[in-house]
Amino acid sequence: PIVNVTEETGVVECTFAIIKPDAMRKGFAAQIKHRILADGFHILQERQLQLSTDIAQEFYAEHLGKPFFEKLTNFMSSGPVTAMVLSRVNAIKAWRSLMGPTNPVAAAEQFPNSLRALYGDKENTTMNATHGSDARLSAQREIKFFFPKRPIFPAPTHQQSHEYIQA
Ligand code: UDP
Repeated sequence: PIVNVTEETGVVECTFAIIKPDAMRKGFAAQIKHRILADGFHILQERQLQLSTDIAQEFYAEHLGKPFFEKLTNFMSSGPVTAMVLSRVNAIKAWRSLMGPTNPVAAAEQFPNSLRALYGDKENTTMNATHGSDARLSAQREIKFFFPKRPIFPAPTHQQSHEYIQA
């Protein structure tokens, strides 16, 4: 469907989310999805899968060379994850804000009701329960990476002048 948006309501976007292996293992997936729906998101696509380390490394290629790269990609391939396409007005910002800051300790201090505060591991920043795209372009790339067969999120064009986004 084509969704009409105005400046007041903001732009209906898609973003990409992962429930990470720690939260899956601890049985938090249902609570996390409940919070997602309560926050007005639609879950457009969802799949459970386990990543190989190769795939995790490809997904996190932008972090290659950082000190936490190996720990992160080993962790992300350590068990099943849930990958989702979420849509909502201002989905990218809204999902980042529902997740909270990267570090679960900071999340607990600043946003105690955020998902990373509630479900992340306070002893280990890597195990912070969820992933979320940080921008329109990364959302597109990540959605395509996990849901290659159904490109549901074409880039906004100039003709659309950011008023219409295909959801
Ligand atoms: N991470 C980590 N140590 C750090 C920073 C990040 O283990 O010092 C992990 C953490 O799981 C984080 C992921 O790497 O979610 C990606 O890092 P990024 O800086 O992109 O944070 P995000 O966008 O996920 O909040």
